Amino acid sequence: MDSLLIFNGFVMPFRKNAMEVFNPGYVFIRGNRIECVEEGDPPQVLVQEADQIIDARGKAVIPGLINAHTHLFQTFLRGLADDKPLLRWLETAIWPGGLAMTEEDFYLSALLGFVENLKCGATSVLNQDYMQSSTRNMDMIAEAAHNSGARVLLARGFADRDPYHPKFQEPTYQVLHETERLVKDWNQRDGGMVRVEFGPLIPWGCKEETLKSINQLAKDWDVGVHIHLSETQPEVQMSIEEYGVTPGHWLHDIGVLNERWQLVHGVWLEEEEMDMIADAGSVIVHCPVSNMYLASGIPSVTKWLQRGIPIALGTDGPGSNNSQDMLEVLKFTACLQKIGTMDAMALMPEDILEMNYKGGRLAMGLDGKIGSLHPGLFADITIVDLMRPHIAPVHSPQSALVYNANGNDVDTVIVNGKILLQGGKVLGIDESKLMEDCQKAAEAMLDRAGIKTGISETA
Ligand SMILES: [Zn+2]
Repeated sequence: MDSLLIFNGFVMPFRKNAMEVFNPGYVFIRGNRIECVEEGDPPQVLVQEADQIIDARGKAVIPGLINAHTHLFQTFLRGLADDKPLLRWLETAIWPGGLAMTEEDFYLSALLGFVENLKCGATSVLNQDYMQSSTRNMDMIAEAAHNSGARVLLARGFADRDPYHPKFQEPTYQVLHETERLVKDWNQRDGGMVRVEFGPLIPWGCKEETLKSINQLAKDWDVGVHIHLSETQPEVQMSIEEYGVTPGHWLHDIGVLNERWQLVHGVWLEEEEMDMIADAGSVIVHCPVSNMYLASGIPSVTKWLQRGIPIALGTDGPGSNNSQDMLEVLKFTACLQKIGTMDAMALMPEDILEMNYKGGRLAMGLDGKIGSLHPGLFADITIVDLMRPHIAPVHSPQSALVYNANGNDVDTVIVNGKILLQGGKVLGIDESKLMEDCQKAAEAMLDRAGIKTGISETA
């Protein structure tokens, strides 16, 4: 079994809390597991035993970041509909572009997205895809996930009722059948590196009976349910007009809210809904860059924290961010709450890093398996270079990671004990060829969709 020793870095284990830093410290990995994490210099016996050694001087050695919400098909669509609110952004680029994508496009766009996530330090990615123009699309995305080497949870997206866009509605039987097929195909393969769960797009896009069915099936199959919730005010208004209650309240009333549910955004949650979510034990996934980009609003993250709701962090899709940089997300999480509460101390760097790991591993369904440097856990590790002009000198590695570092500072990424990125370069994938292939395929997709570029539309 291969072994790897990382030494001489700022080792941040995130075991009990985010304040623990070993400077220097070392991590010894055997196979796909962490074997030991200690302060000081490694004993000679480990130095001699290690098949590979990484000197992490001047670098932070942290558990791999967890991107708990994205839609990677949108790598082909980024920059096409900037500066619009959610519905116009969907109508202008995301829906027509997504419909014009081929099965091969889904593979390429996802592979590019997983590579970008790895390069920016995310070792775990929760990707929801809802473009089911072919039943093969999800297989192509799963293949891309597998080939990237990242740890991936795929939420198989769907909408099965009016008033959601008719072209994206699927028959309920197809949703259930296809999700079951994918869960059986993938969840036990390769030690569960690529797994599948339910991904109902949004409450008003899904039938009540379907949500109840998948809630039961999720328990039977031991998978989660990933859904957008209260992202914008119009969406909340639609729920009140139709059901008389807000969307989170409605999910509670139909009896489906529980700890398997991952609720994305929650920008317009009412206090009563926050209490319901806290009682249910569901995770909220916060995507601050997307909330700002689409002018969706400022979520009450500090109120969620006060209630003990687990909070994961995500980039959201490349169409509304437009990158997959989780280090950037950490900074925006802090800054958005500061301005939202008018309190410079609303969130500390330690709070934000803990959210990423604690909420992230719950969202991934991998609590106790990732998100910490601890003996026995999967060896998912990100090494960030802090000796950069925009970071040094380092007084607090937590602050340096949240406020200074960005994805370009990620030096090394290890997933499941395997080095996937070294010196900032992805190993085993020709990045230049991938980008060329994606550029050609995305341009052909634009032609088919009739989307024009280079024209700035005034809102
Ligand atoms: Zn989303």
